[in-house]
Amino acid sequence: MTPHNQASTKEYTSDQLLKRILPGSVIGVLGGGQLGRMMALAGRAMGYRFVTLDPTPDAPCGQAADEQIVAAYDDQDAARKLAELSDVITYEFENVDADVAAMLMKESYVPQGSQLLFTTQHRLREKRAIEAAGVAVAPYAPVRSLEDLEQAVHRLGLPSVLKTATGGYDGKGQRVLRDRADLADAYAALSGEGIELVLEQFIRFDKEISVIAARSPSGEIVTYPPAENIHIENILHVSIAPARISREIVDHAQQMAVKIAEALQVVGLIAVEMFVTSSGELYVNELAPRPHNSGHYTMEACRTSQFEQHIRAICNLPLTSTALLTPVVMVNVLGEHVAPLMDWIAAGGEAELEQQAGITAKVHLYGKAEAKLKRKMGHVNLLTNDVEKALEWIDQSPIWRR
Ligand code: AMP
Repeated sequence: MTPHNQASTKEYTSDQLLKRILPGSVIGVLGGGQLGRMMALAGRAMGYRFVTLDPTPDAPCGQAADEQIVAAYDDQDAARKLAELSDVITYEFENVDADVAAMLMKESYVPQGSQLLFTTQHRLREKRAIEAAGVAVAPYAPVRSLEDLEQAVHRLGLPSVLKTATGGYDGKGQRVLRDRADLADAYAALSGEGIELVLEQFIRFDKEISVIAARSPSGEIVTYPPAENIHIENILHVSIAPARISREIVDHAQQMAVKIAEALQVVGLIAVEMFVTSSGELYVNELAPRPHNSGHYTMEACRTSQFEQHIRAICNLPLTSTALLTPVVMVNVLGEHVAPLMDWIAAGGEAELEQQAGITAKVHLYGKAEAKLKRKMGHVNLLTNDVEKALEWIDQSPIWRR
């Protein structure tokens, strides 16, 4: 898949952007993974119909949609068919092929546009856009050669983090540099023909949080309560809401997300991942222009889930309340957790947990055929009055034992 090398020039008129797309209309989803699946489940409850495009037959979203087109993401003919069938199109991953995005914008209606994809597909463009919005990112430097890297390390210090500008996820495409002796190896491992790199100062964060903002074409913006995120081996393990941070940091984090959503003219959702230092400073780490794993807690814990809000935003319906109804801990279910989770469900675990600890477990599974190691297969939202108790339960549970 060729990522964007330029922003699409076609923009929609305000009349086009302000039309409401009502229930009964067909929403096309480029990508058939779990994010598309949960969009379809939320949107179908509202009365929308769904068609998805994904190369894997019976994909997670395909199972929940009315129809799936089985084809590669950059297959122009298949994308044209998606356009023909859809009143509005959205995507569930950001590496959308530039030609496909341009064609979909022409043949159908993609209110999210292609500029936001262009920005968030490349870490340097993304960082510049965040800074232009008046929001702090970790100090960074572009790296195009080993000499660049040596100079950047001289300026930013060690430890620091070397990342590929495109294509990284879940910690892939990055190396932590701790010692000058690491530089050449890390550079050799990550660099390659046409690959740009970026060096970031290592932020000694106290916590990682994320804020999801939704913006509609009419410019209305809402933000969700920040989630506190804990990763294991660079993969999200749990999200906790409310995050265990001060009211001032909550307000500041939400204001940062609003600034970014406004400056980037977001339509739909933007997830803003941030580091919180012990002195309360906030730095944005990265953006995702779509529903986000750290927002899965909203499904039962907020008045409006991130998936419903995304549908509302792209259809230009008024946005509705993001209020948190209950404290919650979301825990991811990876491939290796599926079998013990099933044993726990079979043994009546959910009712026992509720009766003994007052924790209601809402299990979500994505319908993926193969439970591969580290693959995201589902998540569980633990609704609780006591997040510490829920975290302890996860820690001692045989499901997540390491
Ligand atoms: P990313 O792929 O950029 O989201 O990075 C994955 C994880 O690596 C983050 O969630 C952090 O835990 C860690 N990380 C990334 N960049 C930095 C940084 N500049 N300073 C400290 N930790 C980082």
